[in-house]
Amino acid sequence: MTDAARLHALDRAHVWHPFTPHAVYADEHPLMVVAAEGHWLIDAEGRRYLDGVASLWCSAFGHRHPRIDRAIIDQLGRVAHATFLGNASAPAVELAARLVAVAPGALTRVFFSDNGSTATEVALKIAYQYWQQTGRPADARRTRFVTLGEAYHGDTIGAVSMGGIELFHEVYRPLVFDTIRLPSPHCYRCPLQLERASCGEACIAAAERIIAEHGDEIAAVVIEPGVQGAAGMITQPADYARRVQDAARRAGALVICDEVAVGWGRSGVRFASDLLGLTPDLLCLAKGLTGGYLPLAATLATERLFEGFLGRPEEGRTFFHGHTYTGNALGAAAALASADLLDELLPTLRVTLEHFAARAEQLRDLAPVGDVRRFGLALGVEIVADRRTRAPHPAAKRIGMRIATACKRRGVFLRPLGDTVVVMPPLTITRDELDLLFDVLTDAIGECGDA
Ligand SMILES: *Cc1c(COP(=O)(O)O)cnc(C)c1O
Repeated sequence: MTDAARLHALDRAHVWHPFTPHAVYADEHPLMVVAAEGHWLIDAEGRRYLDGVASLWCSAFGHRHPRIDRAIIDQLGRVAHATFLGNASAPAVELAARLVAVAPGALTRVFFSDNGSTATEVALKIAYQYWQQTGRPADARRTRFVTLGEAYHGDTIGAVSMGGIELFHEVYRPLVFDTIRLPSPHCYRCPLQLERASCGEACIAAAERIIAEHGDEIAAVVIEPGVQGAAGMITQPADYARRVQDAARRAGALVICDEVAVGWGRSGVRFASDLLGLTPDLLCLAKGLTGGYLPLAATLATERLFEGFLGRPEEGRTFFHGHTYTGNALGAAAALASADLLDELLPTLRVTLEHFAARAEQLRDLAPVGDVRRFGLALGVEIVADRRTRAPHPAAKRIGMRIATACKRRGVFLRPLGDTVVVMPPLTITRDELDLLFDVLTDAIGECGDA
């Protein structure tokens, strides 16, 4: 048995993969990654694949980047991890200061955790507890969260409560808390049954009305600014997020921006909040933060929120939340190197973005493509059975996965969201690599799209 065959056999025998229907897993030609170089993954048979989704949206600067490698190795020579509970360690403290210095709005405090789900859970719990302990009885009634239809904020139970994706979240509905839902600003499949050309942005008016109606019971409005990623790259009308924020402020509620996916350069600037004129009270970061090296997340908060938790220990106002690996030193060292790389990259990112946008636009001409949705360097290409009626393919056809598999045969790794093919390249992807990626995707759509 070759080593590749042995590893695949172990995988099939013992592993339970995330978001993976195991009845078809082995038939869809999963890669067995054993190494990587820059923007390329290398499998157990030595084949190379362009990492077109940045290893699930986080490998911002490619694999084995010498600067991030070095930062981790240097940190390893000092300390890998020391607890952050009532204690501090060097690189995480430096990282907190670094994040505060570049954060949108007036965020001054950083709470570390391990992943995007915990980053949003932390934001949710901070917002909730804050209102419970202001000392004003009217504030204590602010117990509810406003979320979007099709929202995705992670897979732990608080994050699932905020989630609005039927396929992922519906089964847990009896288990989770209820939120106030805004209609998703999904222009291609409008929940209000309207058309973009004539809707007059009715979803914004609806959001403003719903937020105003529930005004004094809202703890926070939670939004993925710019694009609802996991829902299928649902891009928002340009001023959607800002107007939702303004409505939240009029209602006296907090604003939580979940930039787990869109933060850290993905939007074309450092934070989508900056691009969209948002000043969140809480900001969630994860995915790209360490350049895709280590699981580290951050929830940034305003001083006002932080102060709401001050008091003598016996008053019980403390934020009783933490994870064993909170403030992990290796993760923080990787994130500091990643912050340097992002600083250096941002001034030239526009060039990559323009080519990406131009190549993405060309996909609209392909017959199987229903919609092309792009926000910065995040792209969703929705494949339909009928362009006129927008009818989807039958789910059993797994059209998105079929196209991804066809791309894989041509040396490009993509991971779709249902019928939407996602392209989320490393921010450092070259022009030639982008051309290869889009050429391959075009061929694969042609091969599978009307099959
Ligand atoms: C991926 C994602 C999360 C969850 O992050 P994990 O690290 O997978 O737990 C939360 N919010 C958004 C917007 C995401 O894209």
